[in-house]
Amino acid sequence: MKTRVLDGVAIAGEIKAEVAREVVAAREAGYTPGLAVVLVGDVPASQIYVRSKVKTCGELGIYSEMHTPDASITTEELLELIASLNARDEIDGILIQLPLPKHVDTERLLEAVVPEKDVDGFHPINAGRLLSGAPDAQVLAPCTPAGIMEVLRRSDIPVSGKRAVVIGRSNIVGKPIAAMLINASATVTVCHSRTQGLAEIAREADILVAAIGRAGFVTPEMVKPGATLIDVGINRLTDAAEVEKFFPNNEARREGFLKRGSTVIGDIDPAAFALSGAYTPVPGGVGALTIAMLMSNTVKAAKMRRSGK
Ligand code: NAP
Repeated sequence: MKTRVLDGVAIAGEIKAEVAREVVAAREAGYTPGLAVVLVGDVPASQIYVRSKVKTCGELGIYSEMHTPDASITTEELLELIASLNARDEIDGILIQLPLPKHVDTERLLEAVVPEKDVDGFHPINAGRLLSGAPDAQVLAPCTPAGIMEVLRRSDIPVSGKRAVVIGRSNIVGKPIAAMLINASATVTVCHSRTQGLAEIAREADILVAAIGRAGFVTPEMVKPGATLIDVGINRLTDAAEVEKFFPNNEARREGFLKRGSTVIGDIDPAAFALSGAYTPVPGGVGALTIAMLMSNTVKAAKMRRSGK
């Protein structure tokens, strides 16, 4: 049986090209979709993420602006900033880069973003719409799970009637992807750290989604031959023995590790990929989709707000 690699970078490229065309149409209709990004303090990883979001906006013709308050900013001051962004017509999407400093009330802030501009899909109203199975065109869904559904759809992987197992129950990945798979008529089981008999459950999956945050957690024994494996995890290996264990005789990995002192691995042991019918690699799989879906959500939010949906 041949295993297909699901190329997240290529799919993200298709989505971005479509978004760029929609931006041209929006401009012809008299408006430019706009995204405001709020980055509090100086967390290096967050700065990298935010820079690439702003850069992608520029490439696709989306207006963007960055707000970079100091880490000492209070929840009240941030709420004022969000209120001002909520009120501005040229801002269609508001993204608050997480994590926020400990003293900031993250939940209050995420709920302060009006649902129409919640391009991260984290607001309880949007989570509720997703869960209630509202039509796609009326929901701003979280970007990473939305990206997974695009991978499945654009790769012609059947979902309806299939057994799907999601490992992980976070609000940003596990729960929303479970809801999306249910909406797409899969039969879904969600596993987490308290699940008993996880390996047997995983082995029933036609589609296995791993969103755990543990390097190589899913081993070949947990995989049904021919299954589709969606690896959401992003983990860094810094130990040479671990690199050799997961990537035996892999010269490219070894060289990269020696150069940078680390290498990235997902939640699925690469040895399990060989058994699958199709899989998303790490890097170059699901991770590549997240920013493309953020751009897509920004254009969608702009359209929805203007059509009063
Ligand atoms: P999270 O909030 O830490 O949730 C992890 C989930 O995994 C929890 O539900 C936890 O169960 C479960 N889990 C942990 N250990 C387990 C075990 N031994 N057995 C079974 N389940 C276990 O993580 P997240 O935010 O969903 O992210 C998951 C991974 O995806 C991370 O590696 C993250 O970096 C990556 N990620 C990637 C993207 C992207 O590609 N753009 C976006 C988001 C996240 P409990 O609920 O019982 O604790």
